[in-house]
Amino acid sequence: MSQEEVQNLPQFTILGGEAKFTELAEDGKLDLSKIEDPYLKYGGAYDEADPKNSSDFKYVKFDTVPTFTDDHKSLMSKVLTPELFEKLKDVKSDKGYTLSNAIMTGTVTPHLGVGATAGDENCWEVFKDLFYPIIEGWHGYDAATQEHPVDLDPSKLVFSEETKELFNKYVVSTRVRAARNISGYSLPCGATSEDRAEVEKILQQTFAGLEGELKGTYYPLGGMTDEQRDFLLQRGFLFQIPSAKNLLTGAGAARSWPENRGIFHNAEQTALCWVNEEDHCRIISMELGGNIPSVFSRFCSLSGAIEESAQKNGTKLMRNKNLGFMGTCPSNLGTGLRASVMIKLNEFNKLMEGDNQADKELLDQVCSRYDLQPRGSAGEHSPAVGGKFDVSNKQRLGFSEVQLVQKMIDGVSKVIELEEMLAAGKTPDDIRAVIDKEKIEETGSAAAEPVVEAAQPIVEAPVASQAEATTEDTTEPAAQNDA
Ligand code: ADP
Ligand code: MG
Repeated sequence: MSQEEVQNLPQFTILGGEAKFTELAEDGKLDLSKIEDPYLKYGGAYDEADPKNSSDFKYVKFDTVPTFTDDHKSLMSKVLTPELFEKLKDVKSDKGYTLSNAIMTGTVTPHLGVGATAGDENCWEVFKDLFYPIIEGWHGYDAATQEHPVDLDPSKLVFSEETKELFNKYVVSTRVRAARNISGYSLPCGATSEDRAEVEKILQQTFAGLEGELKGTYYPLGGMTDEQRDFLLQRGFLFQIPSAKNLLTGAGAARSWPENRGIFHNAEQTALCWVNEEDHCRIISMELGGNIPSVFSRFCSLSGAIEESAQKNGTKLMRNKNLGFMGTCPSNLGTGLRASVMIKLNEFNKLMEGDNQADKELLDQVCSRYDLQPRGSAGEHSPAVGGKFDVSNKQRLGFSEVQLVQKMIDGVSKVIELEEMLAAGKTPDDIRAVIDKEKIEETGSAAAEPVVEAAQPIVEAPVASQAEATTEDTTEPAAQNDA
């Protein structure tokens, strides 16, 4: 095959991209069959009969448990015993997603943290023996017995004038995002081209029906000019192009890229939706400053509009009482919500840039105390440029949207309080003493108000990327958009 023919295939990047092509090609042509294929490294064979195969991707079928190595970090690889494999190996969801399909990405992409995907809604039922232990490991949530609350009423947030002032002083921008999927259509990693086109059509109708502040334009990814693409990329609005090592590619969700993918945003670029990336729809609300109720309120309107539109089309969103909103990846079940503030924390940043290891970890410790997760200023795995951190809720499942956003508000208020203590001359030890004291007080009153344990992944996932280790290439910086 010529370079033009192979370079759009996921296999091209997986095999090492242009450099590898040049190294391996003879007379400018590459014989794919002569190359060790990383997709087949851990067992299995291409399933020529899988109807979801496309010209740029083939699914791998496993007849026994894949040969997991020390590199396999995922919960899937720990949960999938030979017994479980035997039990599920011939099970198929109502839309034809198989166990091999569900475990493929975690097998061929060993560094992923979760490593299993659902190809449609029914997978959550038929493969629950695989998924529920993964959910337990990731979220500390028992999907068999617990119920997930939904609450999208922004008026319930408590955000006092005092808090508002504090947030305005420290917070540069605020963002709330979640996934929404339409019942009745396969998820991206199990979808046919028709499914994808249909989902895009329903969502485009939704976007066309948005009014007022939400009114905007849909840009198909394939039909974008370079200027439009650059504009969206620079602002961090556009999703990452699938790389060789992320969930999308190995799960088959990057088939026929960029067909039927796209991005919607309103005129002010404060409401955004991604179409047919990892989920049918990712909804994002963001704006400058720290007005959390405003951002959350817009998020709720967007969520409501998507739900209403699905109903108008005679369908509904994927959601049930145990799992909340359902989608592709177990890490995004429940609310699937991440509410983040981009916040200036100069004092914590100074400690981080210093030499004392314990002090470098102080922000992580403080955030963890309030079930928050700090990230760098350009998303996961990025450094905090100019002392700017992205601080968000860590949990997704078992708490309602309102609860999680409130926890974020309350936790960030504490983080700011501690930042101000440092600025006023207190030491890292003083800060540690404060959070230790709080912990003791909380344990004392725990009987009155049970505290649900924070999600503890069994497998060590990078702390700062717990909920996203599934979708991200954890071994490389996040920026992959120049592919
Ligand atoms: P997610 O997976 O939740 O969408 P990522 O960590 O991949 O988040 O970040 C996606 C992009 O959103 C990055 O460019 C990041 O800097 C940006 N971002 C996240 N939170 C904020 C915020 N509060 N304000 C501005 N940009 C943000
Ligand atoms: Mg991300």
